[in-house]
Amino acid sequence: MMLQLTDVSKSFGATTVLTDVSVAVERGTRLAIVGASGSGKSTLLRIIAGFEGPSTGTVSLDGRVLANPVSTVSAHRRGIGYVAQDGALFPHLTVRSNIAFGLRRSPGRDARVREVMDLTSLDLELLDRYPHQLSGGQQQRVALARALAPAPTVILLDEPFSALDTGLRAHTRAAMVTALERSGVTTILVTHDQEEALSFGQQLAVISAGRLVQAGPPSEVFDAPINAAVAEFLGTAL
Ligand code: ADP
Ligand code: MG
Repeated sequence: MMLQLTDVSKSFGATTVLTDVSVAVERGTRLAIVGASGSGKSTLLRIIAGFEGPSTGTVSLDGRVLANPVSTVSAHRRGIGYVAQDGALFPHLTVRSNIAFGLRRSPGRDARVREVMDLTSLDLELLDRYPHQLSGGQQQRVALARALAPAPTVILLDEPFSALDTGLRAHTRAAMVTALERSGVTTILVTHDQEEALSFGQQLAVISAGRLVQAGPPSEVFDAPINAAVAEFLGTAL
């Protein structure tokens, strides 16, 4: 298992947001975590990314501890890319500069920008556009291209399709899955959308009130929910 969380809990003051979350993701695979709004999905990703530290438990990558309650490897040293819900592109920078942002200045930089644009099915004609001149789906693919540019070993996607209208969603999702598969990067996606989780993940986990209540292959979780709450959330029969 390449990315591993062991008994991760997180409290903010008296509020417990995550309780004993243990999950592992194999190298090069995609895990989707589905849960209702407020169930702790973003907090979990922020802990893996290194924007927050766990209150208990450990996060490790290839056997190396990235975070425990006493020490953390800083976010920019983890080799983990993060795509926020709204993409969070820099509005005043072109597509080229957005994607190049995390890359060292070098002669190969522009070639790498073009490479990840190709990977994410972005037309090179978009290089000099600004974010507001792009469709929502294009903006999300630029956000993914920017995250992929430094060749991270893990990509975290926080509800990357939720701001898109339904017409764009399936197309953008397919383009992103293709890019992730071609780059071979290990991916965790979180979403409140059951259909999205089922079609995106090779593994599926269900989070409820800060606890991972079930994990496994999507069809297994869907066909055999462990309790009525999971069944109701997934819209399946128990
Ligand atoms: P989700 O992404 O599943 O909607 P979040 O991880 O954003 O859930 O939030 C889970 C819960 O944790 C919410 O009740 C939220 O208000 C709370 N929470 C998140 N961040 C903080 C924080 N910095 N301080 C206090 N409470 C927080
Ligand atoms: Mg969230």
